[in-house]
Order: sequence, then structure tokens, then C-alpha cells
Amino acid sequence: MSDDLQDLYQEVILDHNKRPRNRGRLDHATCDAEGYNPLCGDHVHVYLQVEDGRVTDIRFEGSGCAISTASASMMTESVKGKTLEEAKELFRSFHAFVTRDKVETDLGNGLGKLEVFSGVCQYPARVKCATLAWHTVQAALENRTDNVSTE
Ligand code: ZN
Repeated sequence: MSDDLQDLYQEVILDHNKRPRNRGRLDHATCDAEGYNPLCGDHVHVYLQVEDGRVTDIRFEGSGCAISTASASMMTESVKGKTLEEAKELFRSFHAFVTRDKVETDLGNGLGKLEVFSGVCQYPARVKCATLAWHTVQAALENRTDNVSTE
């Protein structure tokens, strides 16, 4: 990957960390879940409103490192408006993308802007930061009440 592209990806992540989208509580949430990444100290609480099998609204609260916050922000943008099946498929694609063995492997098709996390697969500890919000949203959609932990 070129340095220019890596810089651009870095900028997008920093922007979402500085100005997280869909941040806050959702008072009319139909499901929610909390997730922790003890390794880094990241915490996220995801709230969803699901109507007729579609995510009509989503918000998150929490605190953590730049990658976890940016990932939560971009996760909410990606999942909003999706059907439950589409949201699960997106999680599977994203997870495969950031946990792949080789940076060169092209698994990013269809992930759109989520490709900015392409560099994290080189840092296993960072993968947990990047996937925390995704594991948490899955737990919420499956109505699992136990807290999510990456450990
Ligand atoms: Zn983190």
C-alpha cells in the first residue's frame, strides 16, 4: 500500500475519533449491548432501534482509543438502514478483512470506507480495538445480555 493511501486512511480514522458520528444514547432503543476490550481499556455501549428486521437508528456511547472510537463511529454509519442479515454479513466481511494474514489479500470488496482499517491486521492488539463495536452490535442484535469482552 502506498504511503499516500495510508495517510488518507489515518486522516479518516482521526476525523471519526475527533467527531464521532451517531454518538449518544438512544432513548427508544429496542436492543443494546455493552462491550469491553480490557487489553486497551476500550468501552462501548451500542443502542439500536430495529423495526421490521431493519436497523432504523443506532447510536453509541463509550470511551477508548482512537481506533475503537473511529471504528464505533463508522460501524454505526455502516449498519444504519441495513437489514439484520446485511448487518451480520458486513460484520463477517469486516472481521475477515482485519484478521486476514496478509495485508495484500484483497478481501475489502464491498466494505467501502471501512477499508481504512486495512492496516490494523498487522497489529493483533489493534484488531480488538477495531472489532469491539462490531462484536457489541452483534450481541445487541442477538439479544445477548452478557457483556462482550474481547478477552
Ligand atoms: Zn483500543
